[in-house]
Amino acid sequence: MAGDPGAARACPICGQPAADAKQRPFCSARCRQIDLNRWLGEVYRVPVAPADANGEDAHNDDEEE
Ligand SMILES: [Zn+2]
Repeated sequence: MAGDPGAARACPICGQPAADAKQRPFCSARCRQIDLNRWLGEVYRVPVAPADANGEDAHNDDEEE
């Protein structure tokens, strides 16, 4: 196993060595954006709001006689 302390880590997105320290742990800004989009994708999962049909019509008041 190559246990070089200075070895670039593999990009979690594409698997390429993340040589750019500024973009770590990703290899490039592009892969960083992809990872970010994944997170946003999770957040933006729109919950299905149940269409609350409040049926308050056809409510006739019974007239007292
Ligand atoms: Zn990458």
